[in-house]
Amino acid sequence: MKSYGKQAIDQSDIDAVVAVLKSDFLTQGPAITAFQTAIATKTTSRYAIAAANATACLHIACLALGVSENDIVWTSPISFVASANCALYCGADIDFVDIDLDTGLMSLAALERKLEVAKQLQKLPKVVIPVHLCGQSCDMAAIYQLAQEYGFKIIEDASHAIGGTYQNMPIGNCKYSDICVFSFHPVKIITTGEGGVATTNSPQLAKKMQQFVSHGITREPELLQNPSHGPWYYEQLALGFNYRMTDIQAALGLSQLDKLDQFVAIRNNLAALYQNKLAELNVTMLTVKQYGLSSYHLLVVLLDNAEQRLRMYHALQQAGIGVNVHYIPIYLQPYYQAKGFLAGYCPNAENYYSKALTLPLHPQLSEQDIETIVSNVKNAL
Ligand SMILES: *Cc1c(COP(=O)(O)O)cnc(C)c1O
Repeated sequence: MKSYGKQAIDQSDIDAVVAVLKSDFLTQGPAITAFQTAIATKTTSRYAIAAANATACLHIACLALGVSENDIVWTSPISFVASANCALYCGADIDFVDIDLDTGLMSLAALERKLEVAKQLQKLPKVVIPVHLCGQSCDMAAIYQLAQEYGFKIIEDASHAIGGTYQNMPIGNCKYSDICVFSFHPVKIITTGEGGVATTNSPQLAKKMQQFVSHGITREPELLQNPSHGPWYYEQLALGFNYRMTDIQAALGLSQLDKLDQFVAIRNNLAALYQNKLAELNVTMLTVKQYGLSSYHLLVVLLDNAEQRLRMYHALQQAGIGVNVHYIPIYLQPYYQAKGFLAGYCPNAENYYSKALTLPLHPQLSEQDIETIVSNVKNAL
């Protein structure tokens, strides 16, 4: 079975993990610091905070921005549920901005309209979480401009997008956001098994997120509220969590990071091949804008209708091609329906969902594999 996504682990990754297993620190050791520094360098952000997974990063990002009860957070309905759940963990309300059908990304026009209405109702969001679906950045300069105008903060959910660029700058540099979050789940671009990183340029946000990752505890002398009792002294300043990444994971991440650019290049080459072959069949892929380089986490095609998508899904699965669907609009989940969201709320998101199919794309696939997959698509049309 050719799965839609798959990790690429080589001997250097295995050696890096084994080296940590033989060292003094399995967690809270030097690999974490090295990994954080490497991510900050790669993304050209000032700070990077590693955590157990991207969901934890989204949670601490919301907390660091002060999201709490009576606040509202907006995100895209076409994403993994974690993009919305993070707001609910903080006791805030969540709402959804419809997407553009051609890119699957949060629609700027819909965002602008919704902000206008929210302003009248005095229900503006505290935080907006744009999602860089499939590895393509949202138009961050435009969203940032709206943030200035309407006074909201921005968390980029870049779970799909490490190694991508926007306006020739690495995604994660936070030029147009407060915090940017990456996931290192095995299906994503690089992996740490489970893991995530939040980047920021703000020393205050970095300190807060660092605290929330580890119980709300600090040892930094300048943050202590009372005189130190001695070298063992620490203080709990907030209600944090144990969201720490281990050194085992960080070592894997560091080793994977060496191959990031290569992985993204392979993904782009295979995507270009798909594009050529699928165009001959009149099958459309999501549009990638000129303003950046997609890391191509996912290769999504939009079929003519729900019937064709279902037929294609079955035919390809039957042929051993592990296609998938990304995503069911978050607010159609029973948990969110129980909160009062109705079907039809974001028409473009629902239209997208009815036609979208994710074809396999990862660095282990060959050009021959792509040709095989596309000929199966052709047969199923
Ligand atoms: C994978 C993913 C997450 C969650 O990442 P984890 O590291 O698994 O917690 C969040 N948002 C999006 C868009 C994702 O694809």
